[in-house]
Amino acid sequence: MKKLLPILAAFLALTGVGFASNEVTVVNAESALATLKKGNATYVASPVSSGKPTEAARADSFKSQHPIAAIVTCSDSRTSPEIIFNQNLNRLFVVRTAGNVVDDIGLGSVEYAVEHLGVRLIVVMGHQSCGAVKATVAGGHVPAHINSIVNQIKPAVAQAKKEKGDLLANSIQCNALRMAERIKNDSSLKALSKEIKVVPAVYNLQTGKVQWLN
Ligand SMILES: [Zn+2]
Repeated sequence: MKKLLPILAAFLALTGVGFASNEVTVVNAESALATLKKGNATYVASPVSSGKPTEAARADSFKSQHPIAAIVTCSDSRTSPEIIFNQNLNRLFVVRTAGNVVDDIGLGSVEYAVEHLGVRLIVVMGHQSCGAVKATVAGGHVPAHINSIVNQIKPAVAQAKKEKGDLLANSIQCNALRMAERIKNDSSLKALSKEIKVVPAVYNLQTGKVQWLN
């Protein structure tokens, strides 16, 4: 961990008037990724969660937040990142939408984590048997707002159709890879691209393991 340069910290404080943290702590991407990998291994090996909030964690988080990573994942009730990575309160900045798609608001949320909270690792985590991807693969009519999600996933399914193997599994992977690319190419994050790592991943509902895609 290191503190941001004073000038940058002052800049962030100025630009974040009203909702910036009192103090920004930066955890580099490699270190954050190692923490998540270790946390997932602990979760896979543990019959009960050991990452539950505690009174001390709440008290410590009251004044400001210090997440080590941003996790973009599906709203699916089986993919809660704090549990999967064995992390407590104040450790993960989470953006969740059905199908882990990122629109302008999702990108804005990630930008906020990077620019105001010092996050340097962004994980885009799809998951096995994702209903949003299944609906896209199945095609047919869906209600208007769900269709907005399906439209975001369609290019991944089209790409997966060119690949060998299971169409749903390949579509889930392609979707995580595409959304990671979208975040990487976001103009605001490009300026900090050397420091920032965007890592696509897929969560296995049965084993609890996170498969890292690059
Ligand atoms: Zn899903």
